[in-house]
Amino acid sequence: ATPLTIWAALGRAAQHGVLIRDSRVLETLSRVRQLFFDKTGTLTTGRSTLQEIVCDPDSGADQLILQRAASLEQGSEHPLASAIQAAAQAKEIAIRPLDTFRAYPGLGVSGKLDGQDIVVGSWRLMVQQGLDLSEALRCERERLDEMGLTVVCVGWAGRVQGLLGLAETLRPSAPLAVNELQHQGLALQVLTGDSAACAKALSQQLGIDVRSELLPHDKVQAVEMAEAKGPVAMVGDGLNDAPALARAHVGIALGCGADLTREAADVSLLSNDLTQVAWTLALARRAYRTIG
Ligand code: ADP
Ligand code: MG
Repeated sequence: ATPLTIWAALGRAAQHGVLIRDSRVLETLSRVRQLFFDKTGTLTTGRSTLQEIVCDPDSGADQLILQRAASLEQGSEHPLASAIQAAAQAKEIAIRPLDTFRAYPGLGVSGKLDGQDIVVGSWRLMVQQGLDLSEALRCERERLDEMGLTVVCVGWAGRVQGLLGLAETLRPSAPLAVNELQHQGLALQVLTGDSAACAKALSQQLGIDVRSELLPHDKVQAVEMAEAKGPVAMVGDGLNDAPALARAHVGIALGCGADLTREAADVSLLSNDLTQVAWTLALARRAYRTIG
């Protein structure tokens, strides 16, 4: 490609709200054949809605479960955190100040509230923290899981006290984007920390392979393994998937409109339109086909 074609392509991309860091990124993009997606906040809007609260008969009430979960989540920037806080706000539940806070990437959060240690997150985090799950809650967890909901456990005093079932909304552009990318012959896979059941629902919806229950470092490893076969691009929101984005030959972050400080990304999409990923790959290939 001539410098002129490259500059033209970079300029064209910018006009479309796609910021490509430099011409090397464009060149790599033109050779990419494998593409990974993050799930939450990427293929889904990240605006989940709370569908169900389940509480253990002697834990108090749904209200307390939600209040404690929402209070813990004030320290988290995870998309699930804002969904849980929004649900509490809608029910006019007051959020309590935290004494301590800790985030476990890909798992959840913990902290001290009103003198009580509380853990909020995946089942795996509950096991890790040594919390028990009653038989009744075990059944409920399976039921929510099979509905394709993301299940967030809320635990204190040595056991899981309640469950929150959240539904994520697929981005409207996701099905078309997946279709276009498959047409371009790319190998696609979703990497998620969510449960196998949730992954299965997404996989059926989009017709795409999904790998579930991955921690942030498992996602990095999946990208690394794929890189042995050629250039890899990873699409994420740059919030809770930054390590995998940074590891991929090309990290593509969407929704950067208001926040161009996501430095992990080689390509920043100003919008949330996933079809721009397919558009950008096609643009890169066209620019480098002119080499002759
Ligand atoms: P994804 O791969 O879908 O983007 P993450 O890796 O960010 O998901 O999170 C994986 C799982 O960890 C979530 O499905 C949830 O169960 C749990 N989790 C992570 N962060 C939080 C949080 N702040 N609050 C509650 N649960 C969380
Ligand atoms: Mg994510």
